Amino acid sequence: MRDFSAGPQGLSINTATVRKQWKLDRIIDECARRDIRAISPWRDQVAAVGLDAVARRLRDAGVALSGYCRGGFYPAKDASGLAAALADNRQAVDEARALNAPCLVLVVGSLPGALDGHAAHKDIGRARGEVRDGIAATLEYARQAGMPLAIEPLHPMQAAERACINTLEQALDLCDELDPARSGALGVAVDLYHVWWDPKLAAQIARAGRERLLAYHVCDWLTPTRDLLNDRGMMGDGVIELRKVRGWMEAAGYAGHAEVEIFSDHWWAQPGEQVLDTCLARHRSVV
Ligand code: ZN
Repeated sequence: MRDFSAGPQGLSINTATVRKQWKLDRIIDECARRDIRAISPWRDQVAAVGLDAVARRLRDAGVALSGYCRGGFYPAKDASGLAAALADNRQAVDEARALNAPCLVLVVGSLPGALDGHAAHKDIGRARGEVRDGIAATLEYARQAGMPLAIEPLHPMQAAERACINTLEQALDLCDELDPARSGALGVAVDLYHVWWDPKLAAQIARAGRERLLAYHVCDWLTPTRDLLNDRGMMGDGVIELRKVRGWMEAAGYAGHAEVEIFSDHWWAQPGEQVLDTCLARHRSVV
């Protein structure tokens, strides 16, 4: 297993972690100042600064991407909604390419309208079918662009609103169906917050292998968890066996970043400098 104790090697910051404190250009500078050489930005943060300006800033600062967040949200209540989602995903692929991302992360979506409290229907099977077809269409486009797609399974508590793919096994089944050659064009983002509890986690990481393991997101699971979305813990503050799982990832061939992604009202209320310094310290001591 790689040794992360010496410094920021292997560390990436998912920029949602400090999105309430800083805009993206400042986040890039603050990471570079700490010799953190990778980030994973969100589309709205990029749009707020401008795609070209962000690409320039990354180049000047010597900061690369560990992923781009995010595409997906395929299911819709009608044909025009489905088409709009496909167009939006093509645009996300183009942005990821402009920023030299190693992959575009997909949060696939589920019941249309559920996120706003008004689900258009209750047929999660239909949603799964639309997700399958949507990823297949995006994959065709992304292959031309040379942009790998990383399906991120979300914890089942998000199954209605955000993703009807909820386990690594389910995501890998879809990868096998749509990319049987294991070409590297389609894989998974393993976010520990979503999959740490899964009794099949070790076996599915091994099954995924190097070609399918495109991203690795870390934080921690707090007990008790007070909010289903915005109460993620800093690494080391919860119950996830971080080192053990990284061992499984690396044994399967993963050699990429450990990307810190913390949605947390607590950490968003702290000074950004303190959050990044804590991420770095915990990266060295517990990740
Ligand atoms: Zn994630």
